[in-house]
Amino acid sequence: MINKFLSNKFFPISLKLISLVAFIGLMIIGFSSHSEDAAILMELRNTNLANLFVWSYWWPLIVLAAIFFGRVWCMVCPVELITAFFARIGLKKKRPKWILSGWGITIFYSFILIVGINIFAIHRNPAYMATYLTTIIIVSIFIGLIYEKNTFCRYVCPVGNLLGLYSKLSFFGWRVKNTNVCDSCKDKSCIHKDHIYNFNYKSCGVDLYPAKIKDNSQCILCAGCLKTCKEYQSKQNPLRPNPAFIKTGFAKDLFQIEPLSLAEFFFLFVVSGFVIYEILSEYSTAEKILLFVPTFFTQYFSIENSIIKILFQCTFLFLIVPSILWFFPYLILRLSKIKISILNYLKNFCLIFIPIIIAAHFDKAILKTTSRLPYIENAFKDVRGMNTANAIINNQMVVSKIPTWAENLISLILLSALIGGFILSYKVITKLIIKYQIESAKWILYIISFLYFLIFFLDIIFWRFLS
Ligand code: SF4
Ligand code: SF4
Repeated sequence: MINKFLSNKFFPISLKLISLVAFIGLMIIGFSSHSEDAAILMELRNTNLANLFVWSYWWPLIVLAAIFFGRVWCMVCPVELITAFFARIGLKKKRPKWILSGWGITIFYSFILIVGINIFAIHRNPAYMATYLTTIIIVSIFIGLIYEKNTFCRYVCPVGNLLGLYSKLSFFGWRVKNTNVCDSCKDKSCIHKDHIYNFNYKSCGVDLYPAKIKDNSQCILCAGCLKTCKEYQSKQNPLRPNPAFIKTGFAKDLFQIEPLSLAEFFFLFVVSGFVIYEILSEYSTAEKILLFVPTFFTQYFSIENSIIKILFQCTFLFLIVPSILWFFPYLILRLSKIKISILNYLKNFCLIFIPIIIAAHFDKAILKTTSRLPYIENAFKDVRGMNTANAIINNQMVVSKIPTWAENLISLILLSALIGGFILSYKVITKLIIKYQIESAKWILYIISFLYFLIFFLDIIFWRFLS
């Protein structure tokens, strides 16, 4: 049924047009809610409809959707439509090696994290959030105008890359139903250059050949290959269309134990620093412990400039903390006589930590969506959120709290997700041990994974139950 829906000529273009209108609406609301007042901004992040929707619902929900269903957000993303339009009328230049290497995404993501989130606080200020969305659109236009095919979605968009990483756990994926059909196919309409710049019945713009897709990381689920396979047939074959959105089984991608590229690893490296901070900063004591070193040094060196302070903190959070967490286990492995080269460790053994990072991000998404529920009603009544923010500041309005039973339920979901992440990590270790025929000190791998899990688990226990 889903594949029938996907082959409809109105899909996905109509959904993309709807989300484009929603995107523009959010940007207008964001730009019209400018404020420099710190107290107002503190409230505005929850009372402004655009900010509330983007950071507390859109972003967490697409993360949750990716974990269970893959890159379904990319199916309806308006930016894909925009970049595809400009690619159609653009220069169609070949992509340089540095873009094809995947490092562009890691650099773009790090830039958004440091400059966007930490310096400009795009997640707290509606006007800056709107500027961020506008920047993404402008970048997608430029990339579309210059390069061939769909370069933005495959090689530049950090959102898609993150969702691709998280969709390693997905139950579903885009595959062909029968590889023999593709082997004997003379048309290859799914990758034919004549259809690449079509809007609807288009061949693959992100350099995939459906019969060779092994994981969910790159397919943007546009259903273009399904339609071209069905539409452009020189000889009718009842087994076509062959590509489909199918059930692959939970975490199938992860258990394939396919190594990451170095660019993918470093993307994961930065993501891990971000997720650790996001979770630990929910609990003030944990946040203080995490930020002790950068706070100490900025005080010791009497650094007053706020930008330098932030850069110092970012270096610690997104470079030093992940370095400790990624390279310390490697040292232990070497000391315990498990022979693994550093490259092998980074590309393969990083898979051990992926489910725990995903579980922590799952927790953050649940916390975001549930904790902001009491704001929704007022955000629809006062979309800019200025009046609501002022009323809260002047104690004329009190935002209701989530009932205790619901808080307890949320705590249990958070802990269950982490336990689930640890179990998946355990399974990955077992498969790695078999693949690399590790004989000695295998238990060290399990201990390392357990310690990693314990950081998040104890944080939630202390924060939710003991503080
Ligand atoms: S997906 Fe369709 S068009 Fe592409 S090779 Fe397979 S059968 Fe041919
Ligand atoms: S493989 Fe098919 S569904 Fe996936 S991005 Fe390419 S054309 Fe779209």
